[in-house]
Amino acid sequence: MRAVPTPATPAPTGFPEELRAWQAPLREQFPIITANPGLAYLDSAATSQKPRAVLDAATAYLTTSNANAGRGTYPWANRTTRLVEQARDTVRAFLGDPEPARSRVDFVSGASEGLRRVALDWLPRFLTDGDEIIVPLGDHEANALPWFEARDLLAARGVRITVHEMPYQRDSHDYDMAALAALVTPRTRFVAATHVHHVYGGDMTVHLVRRAVGPEPVICLDAAQSVGHVPVDLAALDVDFLAFSGHKALALPGTGALWSRGLRGPVFAPGGWDGTPNTAGIVSLTAALDWLGDAGPARIGTWTEALAARLTDGLRHLERYEILGCPLSLAFDSPVRRRRGIVTFRHRAMEAVDLGFILYDRGHMVRSDRHCQGRAGEERTSVRASVHVYNTPEEIDRLLDDLAAL
Ligand code: PMP
Repeated sequence: MRAVPTPATPAPTGFPEELRAWQAPLREQFPIITANPGLAYLDSAATSQKPRAVLDAATAYLTTSNANAGRGTYPWANRTTRLVEQARDTVRAFLGDPEPARSRVDFVSGASEGLRRVALDWLPRFLTDGDEIIVPLGDHEANALPWFEARDLLAARGVRITVHEMPYQRDSHDYDMAALAALVTPRTRFVAATHVHHVYGGDMTVHLVRRAVGPEPVICLDAAQSVGHVPVDLAALDVDFLAFSGHKALALPGTGALWSRGLRGPVFAPGGWDGTPNTAGIVSLTAALDWLGDAGPARIGTWTEALAARLTDGLRHLERYEILGCPLSLAFDSPVRRRRGIVTFRHRAMEAVDLGFILYDRGHMVRSDRHCQGRAGEERTSVRASVHVYNTPEEIDRLLDDLAAL
């Protein structure tokens, strides 16, 4: 078990009044949260709760103009088509798309479907015999398994590609940029990466991936844990694909988007039949991104990082717990923000699943299992607490009090 270093000066984790005054009315906008004052929802990395504006937007659409998109000629159908197109523009703007006229936005059920589309609809038409790809096996399985499916699909056609593992730094679980650069050959055509790690909560400094791999390889980013949680700026990231889950970003279940740059390689247009889109979900995604834009993604990131820092700081003083990933917290004045709103830990003497049940008895909803981590991930189960804008420092303190008693 790794020794947990204690920093010389503990990081401050106070919550400025100004930030509290900003958050309190936002929390009030989540009906499921206000209806359950005795429960703390600490599983937002799995899916988020929805503000009233998102629920209202979906209901208003379904009760005034529900129809199929891109098909009929009557007003409800035309309006639906317009709303879907408007949602594509909203996604582009929210992600800071530097060239919205050239990019493409496909609506999917979540990051998993977005990544599978890249792997199965696009990659097999892009790669040729002898090509190499680099993929992250310590991240979410959704960003590991599809690339092997693509490899097998190509192998069945007699096209052999090599899959390399993305290298990690041992302690921080960030990518090892020097080792990544050393892996790149003239045959490296594709690199998959993750923006924020779903177990360790670390920001994977993916803006450095382009520098490490050079201008040629296509980069595909899993932004499931960043979009809606922290600011995401495509101009700074310099990636070619970005997949995210709308349902983790305050939109309805079954929503997500795959953004593609569309500048190189085959155009992402498999020409297949996509069928009827999730129109109400897409409408909810526009409302969710508008809501997040108004609330301010940077402030949401500051809030959730500060909650995670509070939990990390508290846990570090509880000897019976081991924090996964970087054991140091981050606070408002931290020069390097490394942990987003996710903290994963283990009780040294209790199974994570048992701890999960006990915590629910005390009003905390956390996740306890292996968190769908890829094959280079943790072997043992753990408890993950993840927050969003509706969580409060008091909820974190209550969790810490209960953890301290176990
Ligand atoms: N990638 C990451 C990093 C995730 O955390 C998740 C969800 N846990 C996914 C992909 C898959 O997202 P979804 O279930 O919405 O498809």
